Amino acid sequence: CGIVGIVGHSPVAPLIVDALKRLEYRGYDSAGVATVEHGQLGRRRAEGKLINLERRLKDEPLDGTIGIGHTRWATHGVPNETNAHPHFSDGVAIVHNGIIENFAELRDELMRDGYTFSSQTDTEVVAHLVARELAKGLKPVEAAHQALKRLEGAFALAIMFRGDEDLIVGARNGPPLAVGHGDGEMFLGSDAIALAPFTNSITYLEDGDWAVVRRNEIAIFDMEGNKVDRKRQQSLSTS
Ligand code: GLU
Repeated sequence: CGIVGIVGHSPVAPLIVDALKRLEYRGYDSAGVATVEHGQLGRRRAEGKLINLERRLKDEPLDGTIGIGHTRWATHGVPNETNAHPHFSDGVAIVHNGIIENFAELRDELMRDGYTFSSQTDTEVVAHLVARELAKGLKPVEAAHQALKRLEGAFALAIMFRGDEDLIVGARNGPPLAVGHGDGEMFLGSDAIALAPFTNSITYLEDGDWAVVRRNEIAIFDMEGNKVDRKRQQSLSTS
């Protein structure tokens, strides 16, 4: 299972699928990608191998220059297209590796608040949590931060927003997640191998870190919201 995110220049969906292929060694049962184009979120998802997702994208391309992608190893909910990531809630797109341990409690709370669930995954609570913070009037970055504070369990996450074509929020607590530094484009991925075609300048997030990734800057914070310094390293993999 794996995560890739790109804030780029050209349509990113094909680049994301190629990067996901580099994570195939981890195993997966379904895959998906979402981009923001003309302010709107769009997604394509498919059960099974990445070739199925590529066929979907060939029939109905996504042309956004910012996007997130995912290969899923199902833990909650059968492997099918509906449970494949990215998961959406009003204006929010999320991909997640790991398990949200307190998802049942969060789901009950969100259902009481009127949110309806369209998948059987633990992940979908994260999308609704962020959307609920946005609905309270918070800006995307702060909405993501407040939602992350509610999560228990293991997660690598990438979050993207309708109407913002220059923002991916990444977060790590358990499964690895790295940000990749480019020149006017930035990346997010489960490991350096996934990002090798794009950059060899990598920063691994530490547990409890979350990152604000934009074309011209990456900032990393802890759960209290303090900016933290994490070492940038040259990854050894060549391509
Ligand atoms: N727990 C999530 C799900 O079942 C994520 C699984 C994964 O790590 O790919 O959808």
